[in-house]
Amino acid sequence: MLWPHARFRRARNVDLQERVAAARRETPESDAWLKLLEAALGESEDGAVWDAAVPEPAAERPVKAPVLSHAHITLNGRAARRWLRQLLTLALPQQVRRIDGIALLEAALRYDDAGLDALAQEAGADPSILRVAGQMAVLPLLQACARRLARELPPTWWEGYCPLCGAWPVVAEYTGLERKRQLRCGRCGAGWAIPQLRCVYCDETHHDNLGYLTPEGGEQTRKIEVCNTCKGYLKAVTTVRALAPWAILVDDLTTVPLDIAALQRGYRRPERPGYSLECRITERRGWGRFVEVGGGWWRSLRQGEA
Ligand SMILES: [Zn+2]
Ligand SMILES: [Zn+2]
Repeated sequence: MLWPHARFRRARNVDLQERVAAARRETPESDAWLKLLEAALGESEDGAVWDAAVPEPAAERPVKAPVLSHAHITLNGRAARRWLRQLLTLALPQQVRRIDGIALLEAALRYDDAGLDALAQEAGADPSILRVAGQMAVLPLLQACARRLARELPPTWWEGYCPLCGAWPVVAEYTGLERKRQLRCGRCGAGWAIPQLRCVYCDETHHDNLGYLTPEGGEQTRKIEVCNTCKGYLKAVTTVRALAPWAILVDDLTTVPLDIAALQRGYRRPERPGYSLECRITERRGWGRFVEVGGGWWRSLRQGEA
């Protein structure tokens, strides 16, 4: 073991372990990504630190703003850095880095790719890896927010983006006998209903411009919803029960052939989130902001020593 200080929390959820093992068999090339996801979901299960960071929603939010918009989150900095150190050791094992952990979490929460790229540049890390690692880093916080702020979600939500965190959905579920259409967020796991005939990205409702792609002779439960106005696509699945929040990203990964089919026909997922959150993360205690990882050593700097 190269990293003697890194103790990874393994997910205890047996379903999750089985799904990840199956995903690993089906898509061995995604192993690196699965390791990050597994670590993030394991961290999420041990949620007390993240539950304690869930903010009060901002009272004054713009109309159509997700619940976390303008929120001010205060974190236990030491616990957050412990988690980031574990994750970054997995994501960037070859590189010595010094990364502002709180800035990393904040940029990921805001979907601020430019901010993430700047952090990668400062740290000499691969920006594309840090973008992915950033999204995994913020997963435990977002899933805690979804657990504890469920009552704050508006009873009806007509936007295509997540009512909690502003991300576009990664899947549309058709559940139960009614086959009601429910959109699911891959970041926080929130679900929200939206009328069937409507593009989540551009609000197109004219049925001539909306359609489906279905796998040839394949699974009957899967299809791809497409919009010819904005060329967006969204994977869809018919299920008996709604996917657990942790299962959404695993499902997304194991259905990559559907993404390829959509991309080959000129459809795509938007690069930017539906709603960019204006939110802040600060530390509850006066610890330094920097995480330093590499070569198996680690230290945190008190403020002023940076
Ligand atoms: Zn969300
Ligand atoms: Zn559209």
